[in-house]
Amino acid sequence: MTATTTIKDQLRRLVELQTIDVEVYRFKNELQELPAEIERLKGEFENKKATLKHLEDKLKAIQVSQKSLDNDMKSKEDAIAKADASLALLKTNKEYQAKLLEIEHIKADKSVIEDKILLGFDEVEAARKAVDTERVVVAQYEKDFLARKKEVEDKVAVIRDQLKVKESQRLRLTPEVRPDLLGRYDRILQNKGGVAIVQVNDHTCGGCYMHLTDHLLHQIKMYGDLVCCDMCARILYLADEL
Ligand SMILES: [Zn+2]
Repeated sequence: MTATTTIKDQLRRLVELQTIDVEVYRFKNELQELPAEIERLKGEFENKKATLKHLEDKLKAIQVSQKSLDNDMKSKEDAIAKADASLALLKTNKEYQAKLLEIEHIKADKSVIEDKILLGFDEVEAARKAVDTERVVVAQYEKDFLARKKEVEDKVAVIRDQLKVKESQRLRLTPEVRPDLLGRYDRILQNKGGVAIVQVNDHTCGGCYMHLTDHLLHQIKMYGDLVCCDMCARILYLADEL
């Protein structure tokens, strides 16, 4: 076997390896991106839940305040009843007038509380509505999130299997490549985003589209060694010569 056929043969193997590695890189990329999507959706879901919690807390606070106003109202009513009952026991007109005035004051206070309670009803109603609306939103979001999560998990399982297949194909092929050439190929592959060997298209590098000199093309056709692009460092090959 001549050196020429050897390098040609090695280029063929590397091209074959590259088609596998394109898939390996694609699958690995997807395996990184898919869980990130789930994390992002989870974050959005947590935000929706936090909004709901905030609205629920707001509703609770208004309800507590209403309860407290109800108690105030009750104590004013008790005070009025007590003052009313004491009227009959008073001996002088002065005392009687003073008690009536006191009752009027308590009634005025009670009226203020009543107004607050009425306003509170509207607030409770609005807050409850907001909570109900957000609950529907959160429930729908959770449903969508869990469905998408399941979808992604299934997809991840499929891609893992596909990746295993490609990796075993790679393991079968690599012993057919000279270790020094494989080492060079692997380094370029890592440094150049998963593309180590590219086709020459009409004097142009298929990796970076730089124009290639006649001298470089001549070197490729000599098949003495792997020839790399001066610009992107990727291994070059002529498809119609392999
Ligand atoms: Zn290039």
